[in-house]
Amino acid sequence: MPDETLKSLRSLVPPLRVKPGATVRLPHDFDPANTAKFRDREHAQAALAVGVDLLRDLQPKLAAQERFGLVVILQGMDAAGKDSTIQHVMSGLNPQGVTVHSFKVPSAEELLHDYLWRYARELPSRGMIGIYNRSHYEEVLVVRVHPEYLGPQHLPPSGDGDVWHQRFNEINSWERYLVDNGIEVLKLFLNVSKEEQRRRFLERLDNPDKTWKFTLADVRERRFWDDYQQAYAEMLSHTSTEYAPWHVIPADHKWFARLAAAASVLDALERLRPRYPRRVSIPKAELQRARAELEAE
Ligand code: AMP
Ligand code: MG
Repeated sequence: MPDETLKSLRSLVPPLRVKPGATVRLPHDFDPANTAKFRDREHAQAALAVGVDLLRDLQPKLAAQERFGLVVILQGMDAAGKDSTIQHVMSGLNPQGVTVHSFKVPSAEELLHDYLWRYARELPSRGMIGIYNRSHYEEVLVVRVHPEYLGPQHLPPSGDGDVWHQRFNEINSWERYLVDNGIEVLKLFLNVSKEEQRRRFLERLDNPDKTWKFTLADVRERRFWDDYQQAYAEMLSHTSTEYAPWHVIPADHKWFARLAAAASVLDALERLRPRYPRRVSIPKAELQRARAELEAE
């Protein structure tokens, strides 16, 4: 029953949002194994298909209208499922209207710029959907967990303020500017549990087709799990705003994470109400002449 499915898809999103100003504690506040009202993979797959169909209908309107862009930000620990979420959610979209960018350790050139520069360079234009696999939020996550990464950033001597709160403010202002200018910001935190990450790492080691994904850095970073949880909690507490709220996506069940991410993208696009432009710049008489010429052939 598509109507029921659509309803359950839409009702999925509001509870995922982090209330602006809320103080978030991790892992207490959000259960990574939550699957809302969805019983199992089959149930979720049917709903995902409905969601993807709707995305497929909205995207060409967004593209034709050339008024709004949408940047989808994916954050999460290693093995949280960022890559597979991108693959599934975007399966129904026209690749011409989507850009995907994975942000890695910054290059020497990037480090010579202000820290938001490389993220601003990859923003989608009006009509496009841009997906960020990691984002400017790494600047208050990995860099916060390893403050020695600030060293190579060529920063001026800091004042009295704390660099992380300064960055929260700067990020909030930057996103306010983007939204005011028609570039919508959708933020998804894929919330995986420590035990599920361990399971996925072991699977990567056990399955020769997946081992290429495993890096020694993965186990090294896992040792900082609690520091990351603390950094994520602070990020969620300070950068979930009315205009660009965070969505915490339960990520222990990949089938549910995909569905919740797709529902969030759908929700963001529906809010933009994209429509095909009706105003045609060609004078009516010219259109009539063109029609007559084609019909006369
Ligand atoms: P992956 O997403 O598995 O390809 O890994 C990308 C790596 O780049 C991760 O270990 C991130 O922590 C790292 N990374 C991304 N952004 C930054 C940044 N701004 N500063 C330092 N490391 C980063
Ligand atoms: Mg990795």
